[in-house]
Amino acid sequence: MKRRSFLKTASAATLISAVSRTLLAAAPSGQPRIAFGGIGIESSTYSRIRARMVDFSVLTGDALTDSQRFAFLKKYPVPFLPTVVAAATPGGPVERATYDTIKADFLKRLKTLLPLDGLFLPMHGAMFVDGMEDAEGDWMEAARKVVGPDCLLSASYDLHGNVSQRVIDNIDMFSAFRTAPHIDREETMQRSCAMLMHCIEKRIRPTLVWAPIPVLMPGERSSTTWEPGQRLWAQLPKLNMEPGILDVSLLVGYVWADEPRSSASAVITGTAVATEKKIAVSLAQQYWDARKEFQFGTETGTIDYCIERAMKATTHPAILADSGDNPTGGGTSDRAEVLEALLRYKAQNTVFAGITDQPAADKCYAAGVGASLPLSIGGTLDPLGSRPVKANAKVVFLVPTKDPLEREAVVQIEGITLVLSAKRRPYHDIADFTRLGLKPDTYKIIVVKSGYLSPELAPLANPSLMALSDGSINQDIVHLPANKRRIPSYPFVADLTFTPKAIVSARAPA
Ligand SMILES: [Zn+2]
Repeated sequence: MKRRSFLKTASAATLISAVSRTLLAAAPSGQPRIAFGGIGIESSTYSRIRARMVDFSVLTGDALTDSQRFAFLKKYPVPFLPTVVAAATPGGPVERATYDTIKADFLKRLKTLLPLDGLFLPMHGAMFVDGMEDAEGDWMEAARKVVGPDCLLSASYDLHGNVSQRVIDNIDMFSAFRTAPHIDREETMQRSCAMLMHCIEKRIRPTLVWAPIPVLMPGERSSTTWEPGQRLWAQLPKLNMEPGILDVSLLVGYVWADEPRSSASAVITGTAVATEKKIAVSLAQQYWDARKEFQFGTETGTIDYCIERAMKATTHPAILADSGDNPTGGGTSDRAEVLEALLRYKAQNTVFAGITDQPAADKCYAAGVGASLPLSIGGTLDPLGSRPVKANAKVVFLVPTKDPLEREAVVQIEGITLVLSAKRRPYHDIADFTRLGLKPDTYKIIVVKSGYLSPELAPLANPSLMALSDGSINQDIVHLPANKRRIPSYPFVADLTFTPKAIVSARAPA
């Protein structure tokens, strides 16, 4: 039975004015049925490590409904029914068996919830699965097959996600972050869910229009806190208010995935296709015209340059970001070149948080606080990536934990206070230091594995320095190895020509 019919078009003004009508009465209970589930990871295809089941946090059932991340769903008048949400720290490609297992669980749970009026898909958008291209497209296409053609699908994305025609052809609504650094994660999911609720309530089936933009920039050049990112993203809320427009998204894409879909894009959700096309083309043209303006927002240099600069600085703390190995961008986080250079320069009053090295952390836990021991540090996850540093270390702090993966040890090596963590993780918030007994503002030099600094660390940096270090997210993108599968894009092809084209979803009404 066809559960309902949809209006083909509706103006946003009409939609917003009629807010008091009761919700859809299609389901026997009188309430629409809405499920949610997704998978999120950013996968560098230049990484030699793989994301496996142990790397994912997988929430289902009540644990998912009650999770802090989705607490906002409780404010809606109908329950969002949980399936599976899997999330992992950015890293390498996802092992195929891991993806297949999570996807099968998602689809199985989705089937038990049928019939559905809506499905919210919280995704990242830059997943790469071994042996598969366009992994989010695969996930969404599979979901569509289960829920059928009438169910409305609304996806939320990171602004570093890659979009494809398959993604656009299988969903109805799309919302991406509008800030980098990302301070609108929940706001974006709320946009996505509010739009889904609204369309179900008003019986609207919106149409997606998108415009791929053959430009690929690292996030470190395309923050929304400086130009041209600032002005490009600042216009989105206003464009969102045009009649017949439900969501306007502009995405940087993810440059460290060598696959055909990787590119920037503009994605518009609405009921006024002509306006959507106009906005998509305008945003794509503006982004293209700005392509040569994208620059790093901070002082950059080699590792040695940044250390010399930090040591000579008369202000503090100098924050040095080891950008090629940043775990929140897909870096392995086990590289030790910066540690080697700090020791070579005999840097003093320096804190380095941190290097992922489970064997070294375990040795510190076995030795105990106060012990001195020889350690080999770094290169444990990717031995081909970097050489370990051998040094004598004194254990000064151990995080109390029974879980070996949660171990974090603070050690002193000459003038350097170093954090060793058993699992890959960032140290981008002040609390990441203070909970280890470290006061970041007291050090002359702080080293973090990061790209652009987080909103908490950026105001502290005096000066801020980004080392253009090697790693699986090397910023020297045009010289990335095995750069074969991407379609021609700037800056990989410097003299490319481009005319924006708006493409309408295959789900548009005939
Ligand atoms: Zn991102």
